Amino acid sequence: MPITTDDVIEFLHRAADMLHENKEYLTELDSAIGDADHGINMDRGFQTILKKLPTVEDKDAGTILKTSGMALVSSVGGAGGPLYGTAFMQAGMAVAGKYELTAEDLLAALDAALKGVMMRGKSKPGEKTMIDAIDPAVTAMREALEKGATTLQALEQATIAAEQGMKNTIPMIAMKGRASYLGERSIGHQDPGATSSYLLIRLMTEMAREKQ
Ligand code: ADP
Ligand code: MG
Repeated sequence: MPITTDDVIEFLHRAADMLHENKEYLTELDSAIGDADHGINMDRGFQTILKKLPTVEDKDAGTILKTSGMALVSSVGGAGGPLYGTAFMQAGMAVAGKYELTAEDLLAALDAALKGVMMRGKSKPGEKTMIDAIDPAVTAMREALEKGATTLQALEQATIAAEQGMKNTIPMIAMKGRASYLGERSIGHQDPGATSSYLLIRLMTEMAREKQ
């Protein structure tokens, strides 16, 4: 079953609700190694996306995602907003003009999001950032689809990999962003951005499961 633009819109609404519910949790994680605003940033950014959605509801998936990315960049300061904004804009470019997405399109969008964050953040895996959740998820999804998995099976593998990647940030030393100022004192804490990325990937999987 292809992913429709209605599914993309529903995902954004549910992501906004989910991030609102996790606002304190994400902010608490950021208070340990950052400036205690990641939950506030994500909540504000996604509430701004919701305000923009009525203008793009009948547009292609690329336009919906690009508009969402611009909403994040314009409404959230610091690193997280522009990085997530870039992720959504690049994902949108990967599916420009499409009204229906296959599993391969979704993979292409996630891969473009990953590469966008890496380029904008000058970051790579192992530096205790959101990359550490997204990169293993993209790899797991690609490998699953190559073996003939369904969209749901591939997303389930991506979620397992993202969760492990998120947990793997705990013993890492932060090399990027505010957490890097702490040096070795960043060890022992889970990265907030890796956590929000895991939560977003998990939500995609939950939606795919419901639509079976
Ligand atoms: P800020 O750090 O400006 O307060 P947030 O708190 O919203 O912004 O986001 C922090 C998260 O952003 C970190 O947990 C990390 O995952 C991610 N991050 C920070 N810098 C980078 C970077 N250069 N590359 C990738 N991700 C980064
Ligand atoms: Mg912060």
